Amino acid sequence: MEETTGRSTKKKVVVVGGGLVGALNACFFAKRGFDVEVFETREDIRIAKVVKGRSINLALSHRGRQALKHVGMEEKIVSKGIPMHARMIHSLSGKQSPIPYGRKGQFILSVDRANLNKELLTGKIFFYSSAKVFVTYVAAIFLRSDGSNEQIKADLIVGCDGAFSAIRKQFLRRSRFNYSQTYIPHGYMELTMPPINGEFAMKPNYLHIWPRNTFMMIALPNLDKTFTCTLFMPFEEFEKITTGDEVIEFFQKYFPDTIPLIGVDALKTDYFRLPAQAMVSIKCSPYHIGDKCVLMGDAAHAVVPFYGQGMNAGFEDCLVFEEIMDQLNEDFSTVLPEYTRVRVPDDHAIADLAMYNYVEMRAHVNSKWFLFRKRVDNI
Ligand code: FAD
Repeated sequence: MEETTGRSTKKKVVVVGGGLVGALNACFFAKRGFDVEVFETREDIRIAKVVKGRSINLALSHRGRQALKHVGMEEKIVSKGIPMHARMIHSLSGKQSPIPYGRKGQFILSVDRANLNKELLTGKIFFYSSAKVFVTYVAAIFLRSDGSNEQIKADLIVGCDGAFSAIRKQFLRRSRFNYSQTYIPHGYMELTMPPINGEFAMKPNYLHIWPRNTFMMIALPNLDKTFTCTLFMPFEEFEKITTGDEVIEFFQKYFPDTIPLIGVDALKTDYFRLPAQAMVSIKCSPYHIGDKCVLMGDAAHAVVPFYGQGMNAGFEDCLVFEEIMDQLNEDFSTVLPEYTRVRVPDDHAIADLAMYNYVEMRAHVNSKWFLFRKRVDNI
């Protein structure tokens, strides 16, 4: 496994999953001089015409930027992001009220998921079509569709294969592995708000929110001057709407200001383009097996998206692992348990905060603002 080149010995790392966290992780290991191979089941997104992902854009925050900075990618990614200084709350009457994210000058960034993933995917990447992968003590075994398999030996196997991780399944077979998953009753659907006369249809430097208590819509800006609107709603509510006219009726009732911006015809068709997607929260522990295998990103901790920290926390996993590698001289037998010890409580806390924000964003943000206005405007 260890490859001797000249005087130095290169350790081999296999990263399973070339999504956001796997791709960034590969940059970290490569920077350390390891021989890194990434295995990804999707086709190569750098050349694919249609890129499927869990959302079109996402919010990058300080936590994620710190990790990007470490591998020299921060500026490149930030230059293609759109700063969002505040949430912009849309009331039912169409009134817009900003709530800043922090102090003046502080912001989070709206970034394009596919572009971010493409920028991070560098080095040795192998694309294979079977989703079946097994981990033994020394190798990742990839099953081909014809039944044959390929064994890739490595010093370390890193599971970055997302919320439905095949690597994590191997952990489930072991004693004293804790695992829990919770699907929330809400699903999500993405709709596009096009530019108007070549300009953004709403103020671009905000994360727009339409809180409506049991459901909500949010919109993040894109570089092409569109907004991606995401409607979060209980599945049973999604299912009640079965015709284009019912979509318009629903939007008229809850999001009337968005109808002229998204467009009646677009709403009537886009709503039925894809079914609403599920959201799951997953916690597990430990994150490692011996000195050979470790989980990071959604494979270790899928969180609901309401705190905007899933990817950011996954990026931070890579940075924390890197720091522990420095502290413990790259000795996997001590690095992996230490990573579990340090990281599990923090990731579980993020999962809990995300679940809390699930209610905060759609309901509390509404009532707090209402109370504030009550004080200021005496309404
Ligand atoms: P993924 O992005 O799921 O990547 C996993 C990769 O592994 C994929 O490329 C997949 O094809 C591959 N794979 C799967 N199985 C195998 C296998 N057996 N072998 C090889 N490869 C495999 N996070 C934020 O920080 N900010 C946000 O604003 C935000 N918004 C979100 C909005 C929505 C609607 C959703 C659903 C999520 C959002 N998130 C956000 C969370 C974020 O999307 C995830 O945390 C992030 O994608 C995790 O990255 P990952 O690389 O761990 O997993």
